Amino acid sequence: MMDSKTLYAKAQTLMPGGVNSPLRACRYVKSEPVFIERAKGAYVWDVEGRQYIDYVLSWGPQILGHCDPVVTEAAHKAVDLGSSYGAPCEGEVLLAEEISKLMPSMEMMRMVSSGTEATMSALRLARGYTGRSKVVKFIGNYHGHNDSFLAAAGSAAATVPGTPGVPEDIVKHTLLAHYNDLDAVENHFKESGDDIACVIVEPAAGNMGLVLPQPGFLEGLRALCTQYGALLILDEVITGFRFDIGGAQKRYNIEPDLTTLGKIIGGGFPVGCYGGKAEIMNHMAPCGGVFQAGTLSGNPVAMAAGLATLKRLQECDYDALEKRTLAFAEELAGIIRSKGKPVQLVHTASAFTMYFTEEPVVDQRGSAASDADVYAAFWQQMHKQGVYLAPAGFECTFTSFVHGDEDLEKTLEAAKNVQF
Ligand code: PLP
Repeated sequence: MMDSKTLYAKAQTLMPGGVNSPLRACRYVKSEPVFIERAKGAYVWDVEGRQYIDYVLSWGPQILGHCDPVVTEAAHKAVDLGSSYGAPCEGEVLLAEEISKLMPSMEMMRMVSSGTEATMSALRLARGYTGRSKVVKFIGNYHGHNDSFLAAAGSAAATVPGTPGVPEDIVKHTLLAHYNDLDAVENHFKESGDDIACVIVEPAAGNMGLVLPQPGFLEGLRALCTQYGALLILDEVITGFRFDIGGAQKRYNIEPDLTTLGKIIGGGFPVGCYGGKAEIMNHMAPCGGVFQAGTLSGNPVAMAAGLATLKRLQECDYDALEKRTLAFAEELAGIIRSKGKPVQLVHTASAFTMYFTEEPVVDQRGSAASDADVYAAFWQQMHKQGVYLAPAGFECTFTSFVHGDEDLEKTLEAAKNVQF
């Protein structure tokens, strides 16, 4: 195995920034990429053999921890039967059935290979179904890197000033509003209601850090969409099966027209999925005229790993994980505050974000006020002590069902050593 310096030097000649996804470059935290050799349970090891407690968890999918034995066995068995057929297989039917059981709004669905594909296809379907062009999107929400969604997007897209390569003609159909600002959405509907195909929203935003919906926000979106004949798309790529075994839609009791999924439903393999009311989904080819296809869609290995993951998750205690995560996050925030830095802690389920700012965070403006230098200093010093956090301050910190008390305790001890 090459060491990280050699790998990084080589990688930079072969891939922009030496990475296949921008945040991995660790520029936000003023560091260099962490090349991972292997992972198990709550840990990852870098190519130098250093062990880290992992709170990135592949940006969310590994809620059971890395290499869960049941998921790994399911994937191995599937590989032995062939890694891809480009034809229907049992696994995709079983996974779809399981998702539909756990998330009843997903009467029908399509498997794809990434969250980006899922949201891109859901948008096309919404446009095809309604015959309208416009989409309402929230500033700081991230729905993957489809052109229409790269207007004021969160996550890594927030680090790119403007978005060269996205034609004005496309984003002119994207209407923006701040998260939790229902009045702004209502104004869009009043002005352009007969041309709004859909509202897409992260039911709890995870890409400007974690930002929770205020009471009435999601309900208000539901009501406006119904009133104006637009579709409500809940982007549950992060929250699906993390916020609840029925997703954020169960937790917040909101019925969407369409839902997009990814991450957890692939058990760590490339996957995405969009679905919803059968009457809408039947507008997809070959039943209807809206086109979408994929060579690796419904990939048997991803389907097997995803199904095993969803089955395992039904045996897991979400409430207990939430309680442990909250207690841990509060203690962590307390440690930082005791060092004289302001912290706004936002948490739900097994996700949280600490914002280094004085004001409560309810939208992207609040999240952007978080002090990036403080986060970079925190990240670097935690990293040196064997704690792997998201290499950007506007992401979620995730826990898993296998993070033990000892891991959390070690993390808190490491935080106590951080100096600002
Ligand atoms: N939607 C949300 C809410 C996401 O967080 C992401 C990725 O983080 C996506 C869509 C895009 O998913 P992918 O990275 O699999 O394309």
